[in-house]
Amino acid sequence: MKRLAILGSTGSIGVNALDVARRMPGRVRVVGLAARSNVALLSSQARRFKPRCVAMFEPEAARALKTRLDGTARHLPSGVEGLVALASQPDCDVVLTSLVGGVGFAPLLAAIKSGKTVALANKEPMVMAGAQFVEEARRWQARLVPVDSEPSAIFQCVQGAPEKSIKRVILTASGGSFYKRKGSLRDVSVREALRHPTWKMGRKITIDCATLMNKGLETIEIMNLFALKLEQVEVVIHPQSVIHSAVEFSDGSVLAQLSPPDMRLPIQYAMTYPERAERLIAPLDLFSIQELTFRRPDFRRFPCLALARQAARMGRGMPCVLNAADEVAVQAFLSEAIRFTDIARVVESTLKAYRPGRSEPSLAEIVEIDQWARQKAEEFCRP
Ligand code: MG
Repeated sequence: MKRLAILGSTGSIGVNALDVARRMPGRVRVVGLAARSNVALLSSQARRFKPRCVAMFEPEAARALKTRLDGTARHLPSGVEGLVALASQPDCDVVLTSLVGGVGFAPLLAAIKSGKTVALANKEPMVMAGAQFVEEARRWQARLVPVDSEPSAIFQCVQGAPEKSIKRVILTASGGSFYKRKGSLRDVSVREALRHPTWKMGRKITIDCATLMNKGLETIEIMNLFALKLEQVEVVIHPQSVIHSAVEFSDGSVLAQLSPPDMRLPIQYAMTYPERAERLIAPLDLFSIQELTFRRPDFRRFPCLALARQAARMGRGMPCVLNAADEVAVQAFLSEAIRFTDIARVVESTLKAYRPGRSEPSLAEIVEIDQWARQKAEEFCRP
């Protein structure tokens, strides 16, 4: 029986994870739930799964939850403090990090320092300081198991293989909302950008898919997780989202992981790893899919991917700056303060303004670089 805490239980990953937990009652027990502000959903989740601890990030929501949910659950403080407490609580084996953005940085570190198995769905901290987190995980004997479909596919493909036998990773991308669209993307609306062809996800990641920044962030994340060089990661547009990624080994053999696009599979695998449980998703039917297609990404039309690769090559805090600027720019686009094509402009300007040091920053320095980059990016968002 795995005891599970979910940081971000009301988002799309959190909701899917609870569905997985509900359907594996003998194998997973929910012991903690946290969310940003959705009091109604978190209280109904808490009534159903009866976790020992609950937390709300926003103070007002935390107060509302207390009045709405009078039961046996312990209410943790609001803000990062509560998330950190939930991530490090004893009597918990797996911490699913499905928060959005850099806010998950301290909770991830707390889960690692408590030696948990971390089911990683919050990619931003792994972009900001992934190599440092992998190092910390080694030190505290924590286990990092990716939940995001592509890193999970890679993780599944490399099981049992020595690290140095990995030659190359083929990182697949759906192409996002504008893959098929012709003409300029300057005047696309928020509504159009939020229409993802294959996955139903939160707003931030859906915009990142539309700009291809998501593939850039994943490039950096998997370089950190699997000790890869930039040249070993090849991004391939694969609109069907059936091959979730593939790994080429030293002998030329390529292993891929395939399944219908359903997040419950990588979530379930992260919870049962290294074992495999019974299938919860629809079976893969190649006859109904018929065709799997592959294209090169268009780096000119989607400059965010090129910027991310540039930051990955430079290192020394650049990935952290990239991530912070992207978070700020996506937020500004979602609130209609900037255009879609301004997202890349803001990220590029922020990267250009940054003066990297000589070596890789420490975790404490990363926190400062992140704050600096957010402020800078805010300036570049102003008219
Ligand atoms: Mg992904």
